[in-house]
Amino acid sequence: MQTQSSDKAIDTGSFRDHIGIITDDGKRKDIYPKKPKGRFYNARTVFSLALLAFLFGMPLIKIDGHPFMMLNIIERKFIIFGQVFGTHDFFILALGFITFIVSIILFTAVFGRVFCGWACPQTVFLEMVFRKIEFFFEGDYISQKKMNSAPWTAGKIIKKVSKWSIFFALSVLIANTFLAWIIGTDELTHIISDPVSKHVWGFAAMLIFSGMFYFVFAYFREYACIYVCPYGRLQGVLLDKNTTVIAYDYVRGEPRGKIRKSEERTKGDCIDCNACVAVCPTGIDIRNGTQLECVNCTACIDACDNIMDKINKPRGLIRFASENNIRNKSKFKFTAREIAYTFVLLILLSVLTYLISTRKPIDVTILRAPGMIFQEQPDDKISNLYTMKLTNKTFDEVPVTLKLENLNGELKVIGNDIKVGSNDVSETKFLVLLNKNELKTMNIPLEIGLYKNGVKFETKKINFLGPAPQK
Ligand code: SF4
Ligand code: SF4
Repeated sequence: MQTQSSDKAIDTGSFRDHIGIITDDGKRKDIYPKKPKGRFYNARTVFSLALLAFLFGMPLIKIDGHPFMMLNIIERKFIIFGQVFGTHDFFILALGFITFIVSIILFTAVFGRVFCGWACPQTVFLEMVFRKIEFFFEGDYISQKKMNSAPWTAGKIIKKVSKWSIFFALSVLIANTFLAWIIGTDELTHIISDPVSKHVWGFAAMLIFSGMFYFVFAYFREYACIYVCPYGRLQGVLLDKNTTVIAYDYVRGEPRGKIRKSEERTKGDCIDCNACVAVCPTGIDIRNGTQLECVNCTACIDACDNIMDKINKPRGLIRFASENNIRNKSKFKFTAREIAYTFVLLILLSVLTYLISTRKPIDVTILRAPGMIFQEQPDDKISNLYTMKLTNKTFDEVPVTLKLENLNGELKVIGNDIKVGSNDVSETKFLVLLNKNELKTMNIPLEIGLYKNGVKFETKKINFLGPAPQK
């Protein structure tokens, strides 16, 4: 089987018939990736630190006592950069979700799995937190392998127990942060400080998530990307020969072969040192071409660049490039499909920006009560009955008063004073009464002013229906 159509296409052998992390008899093959070293790894470390600061820091930020970010899917209440979004903002949230999906599709079609390698929480935690702790306690891949096959000694027990304890403590911290994003830090503090009997479900969720994170980062690891993640499975549909992925330049590298000092080199630039395979956290050989298991972590780029430096060859034998870039020795180019995706994404982003920027903190709808036209009232007056729906998208309860602004008449609210709770909806009925002799037409425009604590926040224009004026 061959993956590249070129004179120098490489024989991919049987790698597509089996997964690199499974032995021939179907058991899990332990992966011991070598500690990566290089410019991409350093850049990823810095980027991961920024992401971790965002993840752990955001739930702690409050403005006027309210969370700055909260994604409460249970109560369908979302606070994004201090703005409250609820069920009444369903269309904004739905459009935001669609935009997110399209941007992922676009981004993946153009840049492959960059998200997996740089921003996916699984990779960030595994490679930048848990794996670093493992390297600290157990050394690089060779000493890890040796330790795991060695008998249990006091030294091994201390190292393993220390590592597992830190792994579990970190899993508890991640689980708590995850919950803080959903229920907020106040509720989380209650779960932590109150007796367990008061928050049985909250406490259970904390334990389940802690156990789950521990299992994923201490044991399951690359299985999550290869077997569970649906995004990884989508790659076959989203990638094409113009997609930028982490790729081995087989045109330059093949035929591969070891360096022999005594011989003049007639082979390609790949010296078959396996450094790129040794660092791969999913246990693959990128020289076989793009594979489902590759999470674009860039470790193999760094490893190969280090080798190229040593043998005085240009860097980039493994690099970010598309199949067409490598085969045709060309540069990155936008395709018609990518231009179309970008266009759709820009439209969605524009609509979303418009909806968010014109979103009012209090939404008001006033409609004439259904089935009623006008009513005759004592003292030669005519009334219309209206129904007003108020949606409060702020953190505070809002008291509202109404005024008839453009005519002499009366406005009577039916029932109690109007108040609408935080992130809540209220419905109120009110009557507008006008003197019959002021009704010059059957359809009179009215302006209703809405006031919060004496300050007008909106004027609504509605119509008043009256009888036909007498001639
Ligand atoms: S092939 Fe390279 S980029 Fe892909 S997962 Fe392995 S080391 Fe990371
Ligand atoms: S690190 Fe580079 S030179 Fe070594 S085997 Fe991989 S591609 Fe070839």
